[in-house]
Amino acid sequence: MKIILLGAPGAGKGTVAKLLSEIDGSVQISTGDILRAAVKAGSELGKEAKGYMDRGDLVPDSLIMKIMEARLQEPDCEKGFIMDGFPRTIPQAEELKSLLQKLSISLDFVVNLEVPRDVILDRLTTRRTCSNPACQEIYNIKSNPPNPDGTCKKCGSPVIQRDDETEEAILHRLETYNAKTAPLIGFYEKEGLLRSFRSLESKKTVEEIVKTLEA
Ligand code: ADP
Ligand code: ZN
Repeated sequence: MKIILLGAPGAGKGTVAKLLSEIDGSVQISTGDILRAAVKAGSELGKEAKGYMDRGDLVPDSLIMKIMEARLQEPDCEKGFIMDGFPRTIPQAEELKSLLQKLSISLDFVVNLEVPRDVILDRLTTRRTCSNPACQEIYNIKSNPPNPDGTCKKCGSPVIQRDDETEEAILHRLETYNAKTAPLIGFYEKEGLLRSFRSLESKKTVEEIVKTLEA
C-alpha cells in the first residue's frame, strides 16, 4: 500500500501505521521518529531540529523535504509505505506531489483520522514513552501503564514524558495542527484522494482502511 495518514497529534497515526505495516510489509515512515532519532544521535539534522521540536513547533519545510526525498528512494519503499506525520503543511504537500511525480509513484489514498478533541487531549496528557531510542514503546498512565517502578515492560529503560508532551507544548502542537496541517484535508479532498475515518479504536480503523484498499 502507498498511503498518507493525516490526523491531529494523538489521533493514533503511529499505532495505525504500525498495524498497517504488519499487514503487507509496507514500511512505516514517521518523520517524528526520524527526527527524534537524529536528535538522540546528535547529528547535524538533529541539532537543527531539536529547538523546534521541544517547543512543539514544526521543523522547517526545507529540512523535512530533504529527509523525505532521500527516504522515498530507499529500496524498502518499493513494496509500499505508510507516511505518518508527513506532509504537515501545504508547501510540503505540494512539494511531495511533484516529488512523487518525479519518482513515478502514485498514492492509493490519504487517510484522515477523525478523533474528537477531548479524546485527543486526554490521550496526549496521559501518554508516556520509553526513553530507549531503539524501543520507544508508547504507554498510557491510565489505560496501558508501564511497570510500577516506571520502567518499560519491553526493555526495562525508564519511561518518560517527552519534552513536547508537557501541557503547554501539547496545546501549542494542537494550535499548530489546526493552523498548518488541517488545511491538508481540503487539499487532498480537491485531489480526490481523501478518505475520512472516525477513529476511536485503532484496530477497527485498520480493518476499515484495508476494506477501502480492497474496494
Ligand atoms: P505528533 O505526536 O505531534 O504527531 P510527531 O512524532 O509526528 O508528533 O512529530 C514530533 C515533532 O517533530 C513535531 O512536533 C515537529 O516538531 C516535528 N515534525 C515531525 N514531522 C514533521 C513535518 N512533516 N514537518 C515539520 N515538522 C515535523
Ligand atoms: Zn523500552
